[in-house]
Amino acid sequence: MRIPELFRTASFRLALGFSLAFSTITVLLLAFIFYQTTILETRRVDRFLITDSKAASREPVEQLSRELGLRVGHGLFEGLRRLNFAGLFAPSGQLLAGNIPRLPEGLSADGRPHTLSLVLDDDPAAAPEPVRAIARRLPGGEVLVLMRSLADLERMRYVILRAIGLSLAPALGLALTAGIFMSLRALRRVKDVHETMARILSGDLHERLPLTGTGDDFDQLAAAVNRVLDELGRLLEQLKGIGNDIAHDLRTPLSRVRARLERARAHEEDAEALREAIDRAIIGLDQVLGIITALLRIGEIETRRRAGFAPLDPAQLAREIADLYAPIAEERNIAFRLALPPAPPPIEGDRELLLEALANLVGNAIKFTPEGGEVALEVRAEGRGAAFVVRDTGPGIAPEEREFVFKRFYRSDKSRHVEGSGLGLSLVKAIADLHGFAVRINDGPAPDGKGAVFILDCAPAPSA
Ligand code: ADP
Repeated sequence: MRIPELFRTASFRLALGFSLAFSTITVLLLAFIFYQTTILETRRVDRFLITDSKAASREPVEQLSRELGLRVGHGLFEGLRRLNFAGLFAPSGQLLAGNIPRLPEGLSADGRPHTLSLVLDDDPAAAPEPVRAIARRLPGGEVLVLMRSLADLERMRYVILRAIGLSLAPALGLALTAGIFMSLRALRRVKDVHETMARILSGDLHERLPLTGTGDDFDQLAAAVNRVLDELGRLLEQLKGIGNDIAHDLRTPLSRVRARLERARAHEEDAEALREAIDRAIIGLDQVLGIITALLRIGEIETRRRAGFAPLDPAQLAREIADLYAPIAEERNIAFRLALPPAPPPIEGDRELLLEALANLVGNAIKFTPEGGEVALEVRAEGRGAAFVVRDTGPGIAPEEREFVFKRFYRSDKSRHVEGSGLGLSLVKAIADLHGFAVRINDGPAPDGKGAVFILDCAPAPSA
């Protein structure tokens, strides 16, 4: 794996961002501690120096010099006393009492604390150390100096700065290592996905992206892609099935036409028989053309958009269908009934397509109903809109068949003897889907449950 590829991964950049944020927080935290310990501690020292020097300056010089002698005298606990220094100097600069050998240079007697760097050890070769010092002139001209060593504070500052330096590098290193590790893992999985995709593209549609089972983002993404692949596979299978169905359903009428023509050719001397054979062949070819036209029509409707929809009166549509189909029903000795509510709510749709769907439903009802039966077309005012209901007293459709009859070329075994292509209800379904309407099949109205009820529910779908 090339190095730049690693640095380009999202996880590496994320880790880098995290480590930078982490470092910034660490630095800010340590800076805060640094501020608290140095600035605030210096202020605290200053407060003591000011109060102590003020209080001392109010005492008589003799008492002050005695107290100073006691306070900073040499002896036991010398080491501890090395933090505080005090000195009372005569106006001439001579030390009267205290542990500061001489008046520190550059320290003005202004009663305000200053930071100085002084050699406080008895050994003059010792390194100077930082002190906070205050000098105050007494009424008699003497100068009182109080000092506090800042060496401890300095050491603490050094420790904090070292902590910043020492903690930052490992923290950054750790975060970057984690980033590189995560990126390598991510890249490995991306590589797996690439390889699987390549196999799928080369035709192995049963391949699926690997899942680790951790349920992480990658797994979720891979599971989603796998679902898409499943669906694509299903659609492809369906498409293959449709292709086979089309071939099969065209082969039967075409072979019939071919057989008839062949037979006619064998008896070519009989002109009447020849004409009849040609007529039948034409009928057969019309059937083939009808199937092709219906298939193209379904395809066209499925890709059509909802543009051009207008409000329509469902009662008017039903009346037009009744005008067309009542005479056909009568011819076959089937009673045709039309039931309309007084003022059904309008529906939104394409007039021609809805007429086509209704014609298919009513046409089927008449086709499958035996002589003496009844077909009814009803418009029902539903809560949110209108619904068309087509009832018949034919053989009905078994509940287990109801979801299949809308598929292309599906024909029930019961209806094999009736002419048809198995495409009418597919067309109805395509038209309903285009409108966002639902088509349902219910049990028939006959007492023995016979007959079919088709409901085209034109109430707008909740999502539409
Ligand atoms: P076709 O009528 O050309 O066979 P359709 O797609 O219109 O094709 O119908 C598919 C199948 O559904 C029919 O073959 C038949 O089995 C069944 N079917 C449709 N309408 C009815 C009905 N009103 N009564 C009984 N069966 C029906």
